[in-house]
Amino acid sequence: MNYLIKIEEKKLNIKRVIITAVFFLAFISFIFFIIKKNITYNSISKSDANIENSTEESNNIAYEVKDNSENNEEPQNQEPLIVDIESNNNYNFTPLNSDELSRFDGIYKKSDPKRIFLTFDDGPTTQVTPFILDLLKQENIKASFFVLGSRVEANPDLVKREYDEGHFIANHGYSHKYSSIYSSNEAVFNEYNKTNDLIKNAIGNPDYNSLVFRFPGGSIGGPYDTLKKGAKQKLREQGIASVDWNALTGDAEGIKTKEALFERFCNTLNGQSSVVLLMHDAADKILTYEILPDIISYCRSNGYEFKSMYDIILRQ
Ligand SMILES: [Zn+2]
Repeated sequence: MNYLIKIEEKKLNIKRVIITAVFFLAFISFIFFIIKKNITYNSISKSDANIENSTEESNNIAYEVKDNSENNEEPQNQEPLIVDIESNNNYNFTPLNSDELSRFDGIYKKSDPKRIFLTFDDGPTTQVTPFILDLLKQENIKASFFVLGSRVEANPDLVKREYDEGHFIANHGYSHKYSSIYSSNEAVFNEYNKTNDLIKNAIGNPDYNSLVFRFPGGSIGGPYDTLKKGAKQKLREQGIASVDWNALTGDAEGIKTKEALFERFCNTLNGQSSVVLLMHDAADKILTYEILPDIISYCRSNGYEFKSMYDIILRQ
């Protein structure tokens, strides 16, 4: 009898051990799952703001493309923009007046001859910007760089090179972190000023003023739409224009081949005669440099002239 009880007890103990082990394993798996989830979340939220934000930037782009192609339908009486500024040495960086601001308002309107503004955001970076600068020099093209303050701080020599080679240094804010820059109108303005000061130091010109701002993610749409409208007005009151884009290569959309970038470029170009082309010279955008010769040669053979923001402001 005792023997049988002992066997039963033994069975019971084994059962207890198994049940405890199962619970223990389930508990460990649950803890592991929670930790893993947190790590993934943190790595997304802490990763380079550009990666997180560029998706949103791309969504806005489609909006902009649609929006701006409508502008092309409007009757035009825009002044021809014919001034090519070879040197920025004598350029005057005082705030934009109302005529100059209204020329920026009409930047997407029909143009004859056709024109294209090559614009590069989120740089400068040692991985991509020098190659783009070499190519632009070789092709004798002036572009516009919407630099990020945080990267100006890291690479002042590259900003100086952009400036010295006659490109327009425009302003893309400091952080590119939506929750910071879009926390208030003042935050947008503060990021503009902080970046402006960094550019002044980098290029060694205390009179410099970037005058042209590009909202990270674009100035229209998204959860910060209302704030951006207010900030845009505040910048305008200070003689600062904001410029979006009406064509893009999709280099911030995770496109992985030159062919796909070129196709996206052609689709968004869509026959427009005044084109602001969005590209990026962030560290992981070497494909942007690699596709640039094809874009340049396509534009040349289709009658586009290359312009920079200097040509809109028309100062000498
Ligand atoms: Zn950007």
